[in-house]
Amino acid sequence: MKILIVEDEAKTGDYLKQGLSEAGFVADLVRDGMDGLHQGLTEDYDLIILDVMLPSLDGWQILQTLRRAGKQTPVLCLTARDKVEDRVRGLESGADDYLVKPFAFAELLARVRSLLRRGKPREAENLRIADLELDLIRRRVMRAGRRIDLTAKEFGLLELLLRRQGEVLPRSLIASQVWDMNFDSDTNVVEVAVRRLRAKVDDGFDVKLIRTVRGMGYVLEDPQ
Ligand code: CA
Repeated sequence: MKILIVEDEAKTGDYLKQGLSEAGFVADLVRDGMDGLHQGLTEDYDLIILDVMLPSLDGWQILQTLRRAGKQTPVLCLTARDKVEDRVRGLESGADDYLVKPFAFAELLARVRSLLRRGKPREAENLRIADLELDLIRRRVMRAGRRIDLTAKEFGLLELLLRRQGEVLPRSLIASQVWDMNFDSDTNVVEVAVRRLRAKVDDGFDVKLIRTVRGMGYVLEDPQ
């Protein structure tokens, strides 16, 4: 899931980007209204977090331009003022939700997840293979009725493998989808993460679901 953050206050922007990354999202941060509009128009995001008070182009103008251009990406507006007229203006401009500053990060995360769910009503809430189940809403993984604790990145990795189960995924694809980075042959971040994930998901179970395909990548499949 890819999120665009448009926020000119350095501290808030950095805090949001870091928090969302730790929660398993890929987050891009821009600090200026014109850049925000450009990114919103040219890139595909699952959600935009839009500060209203911005230099060069304010949040309302960005929102209106995006909607007029046919972009239906859900937008969560951040406003410093809890004024009724601001909220009315935002609704008319096509905002999907609001948060008044200052806010708790947990509150923002709850709104983000709710908007992402709303945006994809037909999407399954659970992904499954054999006796392994991943609950996208509760961010929980169970195997054979046993809870498995994963880090945010491990969860993202397992989600990708589950969504494309049966397909051999190259390390480069995993690196770009889960870590948002270009594949660099010097790094073994994918191997290390897969090893850790496998220890949690497959060790102690007779049926091994994650398989290495030598020279190609990894595949999640039910061998039975
Ligand atoms: Ca601002």
